[in-house]
Amino acid sequence: MSDVAKVDADPTKWSTGPGAPRLQKPDWVFFAGEVRPWEDAVLHVSAEAVVRGLNVFEGLKGYWQEDGRFGFVHLERHYARLCRSASLLYIPITFSYDEFESACFDLTKALYQPEKDLYIRATLFVVEGHYGEGTKSDLVLTGYLQEKEPPEPIVTGVSTWRRAPDLAMPPRIKTGANYQVARLARIEGRSRGYEDMILLNESGRVAESTGACVLVVRDGRVHTPPSSEGVLESITLDVLCELGDSLGIDVVVRPIERSELYIADEVGLTGTLVEVTSILSIDDRPLPEETPLLSGLGNRYRDAVKGVDPHPAVELAMVPTD
Ligand code: PMP
Repeated sequence: MSDVAKVDADPTKWSTGPGAPRLQKPDWVFFAGEVRPWEDAVLHVSAEAVVRGLNVFEGLKGYWQEDGRFGFVHLERHYARLCRSASLLYIPITFSYDEFESACFDLTKALYQPEKDLYIRATLFVVEGHYGEGTKSDLVLTGYLQEKEPPEPIVTGVSTWRRAPDLAMPPRIKTGANYQVARLARIEGRSRGYEDMILLNESGRVAESTGACVLVVRDGRVHTPPSSEGVLESITLDVLCELGDSLGIDVVVRPIERSELYIADEVGLTGTLVEVTSILSIDDRPLPEETPLLSGLGNRYRDAVKGVDPHPAVELAMVPTD
């Protein structure tokens, strides 16, 4: 049996990536319009969601606040991106933002625990219709408890797999199908001892990691590739640009070449789950241990999302306490 198969065989030993919760089977799930027992959330084998893996989704993060409330980061922007992904794949959305928000809050109330933060995966599955005819979708929310600590620095490599171009599978659509390549890259990474992988685009320039944007510090500035390089339009990245403005740190959006990764002063990842995660090495080439700019941004981000030091760039949707 190969090493990869051994890692897979014990799911408690692996998470779904840096910053991600370890595998869990929660008691409750939001399915078919309400919070129901986990076992009740089943899809028919003939659904396009199953046959062609047709879905769009969002990863949402909720944090316990300094004042004891519980808040989700940029819920409205996540809803807006879910709508954009759905529209690009001709999937109807039949619920408003308010309905989406109250579904997230209902599931949170069923699942949350004082000592953990919460990650919610909001997935729109296509449950009726085929090839765009008679399409009906259903919103499913699954929630997973997360440690309150910030993500640890990670060891990465550059994958041999490439991010698809806009004409093949637009990276700005957050659909499960776009993560098949992430899965291949993660399996490849594990076989080489890396926790996550960076994918290049069709032109061989840096795209993104399997679940986050890449940040490259050179000459006192943070650089990150634009979405036209094969990158999901990231909500966290927009926030970091604004936090950078406040901290006097320039975040420059420009194409990045592979060789820049190896000579950078700092490299990290950013996204809802990974927040700002520093990278210790890429392809066994160590990076400098000190990461002043990325740590500065990461700490400011955490202080804002946890309500320790609020910032106008970070909007929180607070779960009502009734
Ligand atoms: N790229 C990919 C492939 C992702 O899965 C994510 C996480 N959603 C990101 C980038 C970062 O996006 P966001 O900041 O909106 O979480």
